[in-house]
Amino acid sequence: TTTHDFRNLFCGMDTPVPTLSGNTVPYVNLDNAASTPALRHVQESVNRFLTFYSSVHRGTGFKSQLSTHAYEESRTQMLKFVGADPQNHLCIFGKNTTEAINKLARRFPFSPERNIVLISQMEHHSNDLPWRAVATVIHVRLLPDGRLDETHFDELLQKYGSRVALVAISGASNVTGYINPIHRLAEKAHAVGAQMMVDCAQLAPHRQIRILPLDDPAHLDYIALSAHKMYAPFGSGALIGRRDIFEQGDPDLRGGGQVEIVTTRQVVWSAPPEREEAGSPNTIGAIAMAAAAAQLEKIGMETVAAHEAELTAYALQRLQTITGIKIYGDTRPETADQRLGVIPINLPEISHFLVAAVLGYEFGIGVRNGCFCAHPYLLHLLGFSEGEAEQIRQQMISGDRRNAPGMVRISFGLYNSTADVDRLIDALQAIRAGDYTGQYLQNQATGEF
Ligand code: PMP
Repeated sequence: TTTHDFRNLFCGMDTPVPTLSGNTVPYVNLDNAASTPALRHVQESVNRFLTFYSSVHRGTGFKSQLSTHAYEESRTQMLKFVGADPQNHLCIFGKNTTEAINKLARRFPFSPERNIVLISQMEHHSNDLPWRAVATVIHVRLLPDGRLDETHFDELLQKYGSRVALVAISGASNVTGYINPIHRLAEKAHAVGAQMMVDCAQLAPHRQIRILPLDDPAHLDYIALSAHKMYAPFGSGALIGRRDIFEQGDPDLRGGGQVEIVTTRQVVWSAPPEREEAGSPNTIGAIAMAAAAAQLEKIGMETVAAHEAELTAYALQRLQTITGIKIYGDTRPETADQRLGVIPINLPEISHFLVAAVLGYEFGIGVRNGCFCAHPYLLHLLGFSEGEAEQIRQQMISGDRRNAPGMVRISFGLYNSTADVDRLIDALQAIRAGDYTGQYLQNQATGEF
């Protein structure tokens, strides 16, 4: 067992779910890198607020004022969560990390002289595709084990230095759980006059984030995160970062709630962050996210990290007892405290579709399979060339998904326990032994069950 048990902080942990064989088993969620269940404290905060919820920023009624207050308090809480200073930083609420990064991409002051964004080959598509629309994107290469090749990063900065506007890197990978040295990279980015944005979607629920003051060379200029990965529901996220760029230029979306005055010819925008939040905001989502952040702070991110490291070490050690298993990334239990509890695997001769389907439908264990919205990273980890990837893509277009590249991803959350790992190992052993796969094989080609 682990030192801590956080299951009581959540509701419905042992929800019974049906299996295809007609049994009922308690559900185990090992897909926390995708989304996390809401904390009890989050549910209670939302429930309390639902009685009072009303329009924000416009009404004079009591409920409207209370809603406005709660919304603004949530903003303050999110700034505090990452150590931001309200004088120089702001928190713009939006629907998720993807929206936050797209907003930054549209609002970032690129110039013809500085129009390069340096990202890495391990990025989630959300921290890659938005930049391709507005800048020249250069991908930092990866080492064979899937870590960022920092020597290549240095070379690129040296080569393109004065043209690099922004370095945009994930705080931690949603595929291997690797944690990037974001402050060291920020220092190097700032040394060539570039800014630093960190995709904190994965980092936020597992490690303390410090944005640091703007005069600290290692500071982060912008952070993006999503509520649904940090124990609050879908639909809210935040872009937290330096205020100055949002004081200039027009907002990316236009509508109500963001103006001082509008005549038939003229618009005077409100100051940010209001300027950046067109339309009625997701107040409940902001409150939920802030409640989750407050609870994580209360538990202490070091305690969270220590608990997850214990689980990850235990899982890595037990997974390696399965004959023929392939574990990608760092497989060492002794370095489990230096990465997140995200473990991608494959079983020999059984597709990731099938493994995930049997885990879900026969064992009540939720995982994710596929490419995790990080195609370049998966191709690297699986050792495919672009040519091979293209061949596979053609096969898939023709409806044959047997060779679709991918992995099965196991990812831990705060409430998981060693008993969950034991359930997983037993299930994988049974799948490995071929106990369950027969009936699923016919569905394997389409991936539909
Ligand atoms: N970045 C990373 C590293 C992620 O893991 C995810 C979600 N899988 C995202 C960005 C996108 O988050 P969202 O879907 O909430 O916008």
